[in-house]
Amino acid sequence: MTRRILLLPGDGIGPEVVRQAQRVLESVGEQHALDLVFEEANLGGVAIDREGAAYPAATQALAAEADAILLGAVGGPKWDALPAGERPERGLLAIRSDLDLFCNFRPAILFPELAAASSLRAELVSGLDILIVRELTGGIYFGQPRGISTGQDGVREGVNTDRYNETEILRIGRLAFEAAQKRGGRLCSVDKANVLEVTMLWREVMESLSADFPDVALSHMYVDNAAMQLVREPKQFDVIVTGNLFGDILSDIAAMLTGSIGMLPSASLNASSAGLYEPVHGSAPDIAGQNVANPLATILSAAMLLRYSLHAGDAADQIERAVASVLAQGMRTSDTAVSQSLDSTLGTSEMGDAVLAAL
Ligand code: NAD
Repeated sequence: MTRRILLLPGDGIGPEVVRQAQRVLESVGEQHALDLVFEEANLGGVAIDREGAAYPAATQALAAEADAILLGAVGGPKWDALPAGERPERGLLAIRSDLDLFCNFRPAILFPELAAASSLRAELVSGLDILIVRELTGGIYFGQPRGISTGQDGVREGVNTDRYNETEILRIGRLAFEAAQKRGGRLCSVDKANVLEVTMLWREVMESLSADFPDVALSHMYVDNAAMQLVREPKQFDVIVTGNLFGDILSDIAAMLTGSIGMLPSASLNASSAGLYEPVHGSAPDIAGQNVANPLATILSAAMLLRYSLHAGDAADQIERAVASVLAQGMRTSDTAVSQSLDSTLGTSEMGDAVLAAL
């Protein structure tokens, strides 16, 4: 069965890192007889330049047909002067909401060789392997009413609304339980149920779901405590599930524990498991076009694509093992080279070559 993968290289270092991930996908695709077909379209600044919109109709049509999408990054100084509604980043929000990508998986895995690059002591993070499941299309970022208004007394007031209905909580909860089933069997739901009604309902729904997943141990934690525990003893967590705002903040904390932003993949999924996969980093205009960007976050995003959208777990494992082996051999791009001289670091395409060789 042919699987269609849409590549959206985007701006800055996006095309450089996506190219390396494509090479890796081609290689494992062949080895595992996955019959992958690649298409490419414009998103972000490059789409504005070529087609006059950050998320053009042609891209939208291809995205709707794809089995999975691999994105580089969008944005850059060239488009910073555009009005907010016309900027490249709007293309990203548009595709997420167009495809109803409500579930964001952000793993924070520390490769042992990179322990020295973490902001925490090595013994606290060695072996770290957390998955944060963040609700991505609801909660306070989308709730109505919202806005800034001026009262009769002339005093301005800002309002946002945190709301989740049961259906929204159930669908993200179910994916988080299923993810925990495939990993260590522990799910921690993070809320603020001592204060916020919206998260009292969140907790209730998570509890009700747990009857369907007897093999997963569900626990609950208030978000303030979760933030503290992530920097105190991060290895206590397996899978964390939480709403949009808390997930945004906690996933950035967890990301920092792993050392470099150039290592972190992510997946955004909808109900039919079609997904958008992208590195957590941006378009890094400061290093674009120099063949120095770390492609591993995008290569690891390609592994997530295989696992979650194409259900090719063996191929995904193979990529992750290849990345681990490359790091174990001491190969580094400049962002992760803590103790190496810059002369001995690899460029973007050379790191791609090394992963291909390790495959
Ligand atoms: P950034 O992630 O692009 O860069 C932050 C720093 O990390 C830079 O010094 C950069 O050189 C470095 N870096 C990032 N990725 C790297 C990699 N793979 N290898 C080595 N070093 C890497 O964030 P920023 O500078 O705040 O944003 C730059 C542009 O990217 C902006 O236009 C922003 O809007 C956009 N952005 C896009 C996304 C996305 O497409 N998902 C996410 C964040 C930022």
